[in-house]
Amino acid sequence: AKRHGRNAIQYFDDGINREAQQRLQLNEGLRRALGSDELFVEYQPRYDISGLKVLGAEALVRWRHPEQGLVSPMTFIPLAEESGLILELGGQVLRQACVAAQQWNRDSLTPVPVSVNLSPRQLRDPDLIGAVCDALQHSGLPPELLELEITETVVIEDINRVLGTLHELRDMGISISVDDFGTGYSSLIYLKKLPVDTVKIDRSFVNDVPGSTDDEYLIEAIISMAHSLRLRVVAEGVETEEQRAFLQRLGCDELQGYLLGRPGSAETMIGLTRDRSRD
Ligand code: C2E
Ligand code: CA
Ligand code: CA
Ligand code: CA
Repeated sequence: AKRHGRNAIQYFDDGINREAQQRLQLNEGLRRALGSDELFVEYQPRYDISGLKVLGAEALVRWRHPEQGLVSPMTFIPLAEESGLILELGGQVLRQACVAAQQWNRDSLTPVPVSVNLSPRQLRDPDLIGAVCDALQHSGLPPELLELEITETVVIEDINRVLGTLHELRDMGISISVDDFGTGYSSLIYLKKLPVDTVKIDRSFVNDVPGSTDDEYLIEAIISMAHSLRLRVVAEGVETEEQRAFLQRLGCDELQGYLLGRPGSAETMIGLTRDRSRD
């Protein structure tokens, strides 16, 4: 039994090492990928509540690893956040997204803004404002056509530090949205203090409506609270017409999800915005 136990521990150690090694390797790969075409950005359109008009698009980073193929951002963003590579990576996404949005807005009558995800580390970075100004200048995109998505957790953990940055961004004309709304705690209290324009209801709540009474009430509460603070509400992960109709009934403002459009290339966005200017 003793021997068995030692083997089990040995096995356990190997497991941890293997995982640590994999993470290390992935991080090295990511470092090499920075600035190469292994990393690129896709855009997922955001629609009005009837699902007819494109009102925006979210930039989502992609990594095509030479051996492993597409690696999910759910895997490599946390790694980049831990190692600090996120600052370089996030800066590149910001630049690319601004260039793309400037391009799809060039011949469009009604401008369609782009939303870029900011990781907690980026939001705490003293050079963030510099990186944002750089991306706007480089692309020529008006700041009014840039929105930054932040998560509630970072704000709650570090409110005083983050508040100044958010005000500065807002003063530049940039919009702020709170991503994954409903997944954190104490959000209602903090939301009131924050200079934000939009909340995005997390996909996990949209998943089971209509049907799950708990989630139905929760979404209803988020929408009415957000509206009383004069914030726009976007629902994420809308996959069915039933979900769309339910969200419309509750007065949700915008929709994002596979029902309306999957993430696609910047060229696809040019097509979507051009269709609009013709009608
Ligand atoms: P997120 O910000 O909540 O982005 C929405 C995610 O939901 C995206 O996954 C999108 O492809 C997916 N999605 C959209 N509609 C649907 C739907 O109808 N059904 C389902 N099942 N999924 C849908 P993705 O692209 O894999 O990104 C995952 C997460 O990685 C993002 O979640 C975000 O937190 C992070 N991420 C992606 N790009 C960036 C980036 O450039 N910077 C940072 N900091 N994080 C990023
Ligand atoms: Ca997001
Ligand atoms: Ca989300
Ligand atoms: Ca997320």
